Amino acid sequence: MNTRTVFGACPHDCPDTCAMQVTVENERVIKVQGRAEHPNTHGALCTKVSRYPERTYHAERVLHPLKRVSKKTEAPRFEPVSWAQALADIAARLKALPDPQCIQPYSYAGTMGLIQGEAMAGRLWNALGAARLDRTICASAGGAGLAVTYGHKLGMHTRHFAGAKLIVIWGSNSITSNLHFWTYANQAKREGAKLICIDPRKTETADKCHQHIAVLPGTDGALALGLMHELIANGWLDQDYIDRHVDGWDELRAKALAWDPERVAATCGITADEVRGLARDYGDRDVMAAPAAIRLNYGMQRVRGGGNAVRLVALLPCLTGAWRHASGGMLLSASGWNAPFKNPDLERPDLLAGRQPRMVNMSTIGDALLQADPPIQAIVVYNSNPVAVAPESPKVVKGFQREDLFTVVLEHFMTDTADLADYVLPATTQLEHLDVHTSYGHTDVLMNHPAVAPLGEAKPNTQIFRELAAAMGLTDPCFSDTDEQLADQAFTADIDMAALRTQGWQPLPIAEAPFANGGFRTPNGRAQAGGADFVPNYESAQTTPALAARYPLAMISPPARNFLNSSFVNVKSLRDIEGEPIIEMHAADAAARQLADGARVAAFNDRGRYVATLKVSPRARPGVVNGLGVWWRKLGLDGTNVNEVTHQQLTDLGNAPAFYDCLVEVEAA
Ligand code: SF4
Repeated sequence: MNTRTVFGACPHDCPDTCAMQVTVENERVIKVQGRAEHPNTHGALCTKVSRYPERTYHAERVLHPLKRVSKKTEAPRFEPVSWAQALADIAARLKALPDPQCIQPYSYAGTMGLIQGEAMAGRLWNALGAARLDRTICASAGGAGLAVTYGHKLGMHTRHFAGAKLIVIWGSNSITSNLHFWTYANQAKREGAKLICIDPRKTETADKCHQHIAVLPGTDGALALGLMHELIANGWLDQDYIDRHVDGWDELRAKALAWDPERVAATCGITADEVRGLARDYGDRDVMAAPAAIRLNYGMQRVRGGGNAVRLVALLPCLTGAWRHASGGMLLSASGWNAPFKNPDLERPDLLAGRQPRMVNMSTIGDALLQADPPIQAIVVYNSNPVAVAPESPKVVKGFQREDLFTVVLEHFMTDTADLADYVLPATTQLEHLDVHTSYGHTDVLMNHPAVAPLGEAKPNTQIFRELAAAMGLTDPCFSDTDEQLADQAFTADIDMAALRTQGWQPLPIAEAPFANGGFRTPNGRAQAGGADFVPNYESAQTTPALAARYPLAMISPPARNFLNSSFVNVKSLRDIEGEPIIEMHAADAAARQLADGARVAAFNDRGRYVATLKVSPRARPGVVNGLGVWWRKLGLDGTNVNEVTHQQLTDLGNAPAFYDCLVEVEAA
């Protein structure tokens, strides 16, 4: 038996960025496990990634280049084609376009790796002068909120949550989407900490917390202002920390004083006592003896006011001085810590040679494909499945169905997007290629070694873009860099690459309590509170009463536990656990519509109609339905998914989508 162990890193869009241990037997991966010796992985992977061999050796893997032979409005039919033929044809089609800005790259976090992400792809787009992509679909509202407030996406160390005495888990179903943080939170709980979950949905995480506060979607900023009101009214402020380290306090203080608990309760759909109790738990404590920590996550910023909501929540530790303790403060994303260690020239921006191609926002790709002027004439999709994940999918589908749009998709499977491609190019999985990773949950960098050779004719993204560059006649030596060379170029000299290759990870040098004495990454080192305010939803009973009369239910679309965005939906063992697409509804809302548990229902609004199975469940609060996502459309009940009803309006900061700012009605289908 020929058996070996290979060290890897999980590539998925998850803050945990686990260190993996891959067991290969006779050149086939038989097991993927978490590395016990990696401090942030604790030897455990989530259920999804534990099934990685099943995903890699899936019978439906795309293992050969495919060329479309049907119309885009017909059932998709493809025929195999050689790599040489596919690349020659793609290169000829792209070169024939008169304006390179009409070539649209489209990619996101299907892999978070720096090498198989944008390292070689970015070089190609820069050399061509292709359109740029504003990568906003997940995190840019919160990222912009943190950037305005603290200068970057910075926060506490995940591991220090274990030492907190109060943990507020705000907009995060950690058990599903941040498992290794949950391990630390659980440790704190065992040692006496109180855990409070703030989330419109009663999640699996809320089940395990001491208290759940079910706010209406998009009202988190109002709750944060209400907490500030109570901190001020009760004198639970660290005025010394505020004076030394916060700009704009007088302005913020005046705003907060307008949000008494009764006003907050009416806006957020909770009780005034919940506001007062939460403020007392958070504010009435000795910061050094009993630190309070907030784990904020991206769900709550997927509304019109998401950027400002993040600002307001993120400022709370400044008011109480919680930052003084390593186990106090907040964490949304740690990715700002690794930014100084990354090579800003990896994608070779110099190849643009002064050109400034247009920027297209990935969150409005539906409108862009239908309305951009000049039109998008070619789109190259990699590490993403926009037909499933982008908002307002009726428009996205229509855009991708354009017969005059030349579409190339690099993929592992025939996703909803691949089904609408002219060419599908087989890409390797994480087990078949080399990569390096940073994390937005912890502060280590990791290396992923290939465990087995590429399956079939699959190639790493880097190799596909290398060969495409050659086919297009690009001769810059940078297109000959190997993946090993790209890995060596990915970081600054501060990262010990030899140690990274051997151990599999390297920690970054970050202070234990980084803001104990201020020192934020803003120009003057002070937190910026000026301008932060509550911004109400685009769609709600308060802002659009006429619309709410027709569509009275707010809908959020958090991820199903066994899927990661749209990844893993086609892994049968995981899909079997999920069963079928469901919409969770509170019993009172179901009774008012005479809908029974298990009924086939449609959530609809003026944009579209999404069919799912109704689950009457206490996980939904009155007035809010939860459409768990993100199912592939073709694996759904009627060829749609939850993005059938979401819209393309953007957040207050960061130009991000407002997925959870959405009104619907639900009826029997
Ligand atoms: S998805 Fe997250 S929890 Fe699961 S293995 Fe990857 S990094 Fe770890």
